[in-house]
Amino acid sequence: MAALEILKYPSAGLKEIALDVNVFDAALQDFIADLEETMRAGPGGVGIAAPQVGCLQRIVIVDVSSKPKIKQHGRLVLINPEILEWEGMAKGREGCMSVPDFTGAVIRAKNIKLQAQDEKGDVHEYDMEGFEARAVQHEIDHLDGLLFLDRLVSRRNDLFARKVYE
Ligand SMILES: [Zn+2]
Repeated sequence: MAALEILKYPSAGLKEIALDVNVFDAALQDFIADLEETMRAGPGGVGIAAPQVGCLQRIVIVDVSSKPKIKQHGRLVLINPEILEWEGMAKGREGCMSVPDFTGAVIRAKNIKLQAQDEKGDVHEYDMEGFEARAVQHEIDHLDGLLFLDRLVSRRNDLFARKVYE
């Protein structure tokens, strides 16, 4: 396993649309292991998407279990994830390993119903809320070439310089 290099804004690779995963082989498992190591090496990393390391495949890892007392599913490998239903809206602060110097206040759905495959290709459905739902929406945006910067209603009011990554 090896931590991979993370593309940083404004890298053109972060604007590409990732392709569906069709082959669930050993190479995929190796890549997922490297992607997870990369996420865990980053400060405060609760999620990562394959395009952030230059791999244009629809692979996301989310693990918000470090946040106490919220509803969540623990470590999740989400392959070809699709949001089936959205409900509610909330504004919340987000950071991103590809945008290390800023955080932003972004409006997201509060609750989502998500369908995704796991690393073996089995299909699962998840009902998610709050911070976990936000993290998943953020990571799925990476699969579609979007950053939280693209979701800010107002850069003047909703973008914040980060002094220390907390
Ligand atoms: Zn991100």
